[in-house]
Amino acid sequence: GKPILEIKNLRTHFFTDRGEIPAVDGVDLYLNPGEVLGVVGESGCGKSVTSLSVLKLVPSPPGKIVSGSIRFKGKDIVPLREWEMRKIRGNSISMIFQEPMTSLNPLFTVGQQITETVRLHRGISRKKARSITLDMLKKVGIARAESIIDEYPHQLSGGMRQRVMIAMSIACSPEVLIADEPTTALDVTIQAQILDLIRRLNEEQGMAVMMITHDLGVVAEMCHRVAVMYAGKVVEEGSVQDIFKNPLHPYTQGLIQSVPRMNETRERLYSIPGNVPILSKNMQGCRFAARCPYVMQRCLEALPNLTEQETGHSCRCWLHETPQEDAV
Ligand code: SF4
Ligand code: MG
Repeated sequence: GKPILEIKNLRTHFFTDRGEIPAVDGVDLYLNPGEVLGVVGESGCGKSVTSLSVLKLVPSPPGKIVSGSIRFKGKDIVPLREWEMRKIRGNSISMIFQEPMTSLNPLFTVGQQITETVRLHRGISRKKARSITLDMLKKVGIARAESIIDEYPHQLSGGMRQRVMIAMSIACSPEVLIADEPTTALDVTIQAQILDLIRRLNEEQGMAVMMITHDLGVVAEMCHRVAVMYAGKVVEEGSVQDIFKNPLHPYTQGLIQSVPRMNETRERLYSIPGNVPILSKNMQGCRFAARCPYVMQRCLEALPNLTEQETGHSCRCWLHETPQEDAV
């Protein structure tokens, strides 16, 4: 089948006092209908900016999509105007964030906010919208929906607010849900419940999900496919099995090594030495070179391509590219 969302050569740059920063530096990604795609990497790797770009919510200035395409059901949304994007946001593509307080309006009750979203996109009566809202709140596992609907965001717990935000984001049955670290701020029990909920929405309604996370445990549990990002680029992409059983990129290997295993107690968690590089337009060679245990001269001189190693499993590393393909 065709992807429902297809990102090609996306570049989202920030124009700052320090110069032009290529936060998203030529990213290719696709999301199939009904699929859960994990986008992983350390903070600052460009995963959040990629997801904000899809909804054209990158703060501008200083941010700007400078090139590339983002096709939703075949249609490029990059050239769309703000009023056209408003019809897509929440309706066809929805997003949930780490901190629901930032997307819930503190001045309105839960019911008012969801009802308004539903009315905006569906043009139905207030009464009908309220009954849809109640259904949505129940669907996301809120037992006291009849009372929660008239409460304000600050009256709710963190887990409850996250449920409310999910209810709001699925109220118009979007075909794509983008979840950016949706459970990071929550305690473990609530985290498991929210992930369960997202999985249920994926399985029961076929909603495609792009799951942005730094947590490989979440990926293993939730995702079908994974894209690993580093310094604004995708460095490896494959099925969950590919990534966990046969990671090819040294960065992916490092990430997987730093996940604590079951029945294993370690004094200190392994972490990849060094830091994500400061991004600039003049970067040369492999972005991971400064931290890579296998770095070679060639890595410093030229950027490797993202190349397919086996069906559906790609990697951007000179260890996996033959010298003949050097002409970059
Ligand atoms: Fe390491 Fe070179 Fe591969 Fe980059 S291209 S990950 S520096 S081996
Ligand atoms: Mg982020």
